[in-house]
This record gives sequence, structure tokens and C-alpha cells, in this order.
Amino acid sequence: LDEGLRCIGCGALMQVSDPEKAGFLPMSALKKAIDSEELFCKRCFRLRHYNEIQPVELTDADFAKLLHQISDTRALIVYVIDIFDVTGSEISGLPRFVGQDNPILVVANKVDLLPKLLNKNRLKNWLQAELKMQGIKPIDIFLTSAQRPQNLDNLLDTIDYFREGRDVYVVGVTNVGKSTLINQIIKAGTGVQDLITTSRFPGTTLDRIEIPLADGKKLIDTPGIIKRDQMAHVLADKDLKFALPKNEIKPRTYQLNSEQTIFIGGLARFDFELGQRTAVTAYFENNLNLHRTKLLGADDFYDKHAGGLLAPSPHGTTTDLVKHEFSITEDSDIVFAGLGWISIPAGVKVAGWAPKGVSVLIRKAMI
Ligand code: GDP
Repeated sequence: LDEGLRCIGCGALMQVSDPEKAGFLPMSALKKAIDSEELFCKRCFRLRHYNEIQPVELTDADFAKLLHQISDTRALIVYVIDIFDVTGSEISGLPRFVGQDNPILVVANKVDLLPKLLNKNRLKNWLQAELKMQGIKPIDIFLTSAQRPQNLDNLLDTIDYFREGRDVYVVGVTNVGKSTLINQIIKAGTGVQDLITTSRFPGTTLDRIEIPLADGKKLIDTPGIIKRDQMAHVLADKDLKFALPKNEIKPRTYQLNSEQTIFIGGLARFDFELGQRTAVTAYFENNLNLHRTKLLGADDFYDKHAGGLLAPSPHGTTTDLVKHEFSITEDSDIVFAGLGWISIPAGVKVAGWAPKGVSVLIRKAMI
């Protein structure tokens, strides 16, 4: 390893310590690989043998460099986002990085989590407005579910239509489902001949996966950028699995008077501080317990029940939630980044509480 061994497949520096990072191979496998002169990292090995890619994470600086290199080429950018966590999916500065001339096709993934009856055109319009605030004017928006793809052919056709003979770069932050999507594309096999992994970008340890397209161009999978203000970073793995939605969300509606509180497990809290009696609708994982109580005494209630009645809670213990207050002027969602949201009407004063480091924000109502 001291000699700086590199993977034949992707060019990443081989390492034995971190399975999440590029170039990983367990020590035992590494010895065998060296002996047989088949030095592939675990990711490339899986790709070669099982036609399956695994996600790799990247630091902000590496990512900025990678995106900058894209801006020097003519390409179609496929920007994968998680429709359940639009803010958490944001790559800030994306349009600037990838170049003004490169069109961006937004693929909004995980639509299976949203209520089926949702008007898809309305959703697209809403997303368009959200993206505009991120400075992104997509050439088109494609709604899909990489886990249960029904329109994969359409997606491939759409990509083919917009790429106009160019290469395609697929970008996205971690957890939006980019690997799942790419694996579906690989399986679908459209235009895919010999699946290959090719060399890293010069001067960096980034690896990338290239999928050959019919006309000799490539679809390039880039590593996912890590976002830090997500629930994923304050919750233990098993709690996170429990708290994140797995199936279509069943909206839960409450008639609230002012000075009432809803706890979202032990993870977050919503206060209806001031306003006429009204209906609010909560969108969270169906098994996550929502508990309504009086605002007065809510602090004590949390201290007493966090980790018990109010579970899960961050790190499995009581922790201080941070309060964010909002005066609402149009129908809005109060969003607990990555966890879900509560839709509220105009003309009320509310507060959202979340663990330190997890954003709480207001957006125009999605549904
Ligand atoms: P990546 O980090 O962007 O490559 O994301 P992954 O492909 O590893 O997926 C992250 C998580 O989201 C995994 O738990 C997937 O099972 C899940 N996931 C991916 N696509 C979908 C989807 O279309 N719907 C749902 N509900 N979950 C998905």
C-alpha cells in the first residue's frame, strides 16, 4: 500500500481501512488480488462480476474540482435529487460549477414515497420554483422511483433526447438514490456493451464509472457529495432506518388550537404558537409516532419521555432540540431536513425544533 497501489478499474488509490471510501478492498482480498495481478477495488470488482455499483463519497473540495472539470466539457448534466428531501439534495453552486452552457436534466427520485394521488404536473411546477431559488433552470424535470422504476425506458429516451450526442454526467449528493438509479440503468442495458470502469480525473483520487452509450459517448457516474446538515448525522443507524420513510407516506391531519405541540418521535417538535384553530398535515414515516400535547409543559414532557414514549431520540438519549420560529404568510411546509414536513396555512405563528445541526426551514407548500 505504501507504494501507492491503484485500482486497475477506476484508478483510485487502494486502501483497506474505510469501506465507504474509494479504492477499498479488505486486507485479505488485497493480498490475493496482488498475487493474481487482478488489482480491483471492491467497488470495481462488484461492478465487473455482478454489474452492480456501490456509492462512493467525496469531500466538498474534491467535488468542486470534479464539477469544475465538467464545466470544461460539453455534456448533459443529470442532477439526481430526492423528492422527499429537496433541500438536503441541493448541491450549492451547481449551475456555476458545471458551466452555463451545459443543460441540466433534473431527475427527482423516490416519488414512490409521496401520496399516489398527487397531481404530477403541479408537483413539477412546484419543484421548478424550488429549483429556481437554487439558481437552477432545468431543461426538464423527470419524476421517478429508482427502487420501483416503471418509466426507466422513458428516462433513458429523455436522456438520449437531451444529450444531443454529448456525454452524460450523473451528479447528486449521497442518499438521493443515485447508485440505485445507475444500477437500474446498467440492468436495463440500453446501449450498454462492455461495462467498464475507466481512469480517474487527473491529479485527484476521484474515481468514476463510465457506461458506454451506443454512439461511443459515455454516461459517467460521479461520486456523491456528503451533506452534513442531515438527520443521518445525528441518528444511530437503526434509528435512522426506522425514522426514514420506506413506503408511500400516509398524511396525518390534526385540528390544532394555538398553543398546541406535536412531537415527531423524540426527533423533532412542532409548536402551533398563535393563530385560529386550523388543520395541519404531517408527512413522516408512517411508523414514526406523532404525539400531540399542550405547548405549556412541552419542555418538561420531552425531558420526561424522550427515548421512551417519544422515540427514537438522537443518540438514544435526551438531547436539547434547537428552536426555529416562523411567521407564515402563505400556505407553507415547515421542513425538518430529511425527516419530513408539516403543511400549515397562512396567517399563523409556529416553531420547529430539531437536533442541533439539522435544519428547519419554511417553503411553499408542496402538496
Ligand atoms: P446514493 O448515495 O445516492 O447512491 O443512494 P443509494 O442508491 O445508495 O440509495 C440511498 C437510499 O435510498 C437507500 O436506502 C435506497 O434503498 C433508497 N432509495 C433509492 N432509490 C429509492 C426510491 O426510488 N424510493 C425509495 N423509497 N427509496 C430509494
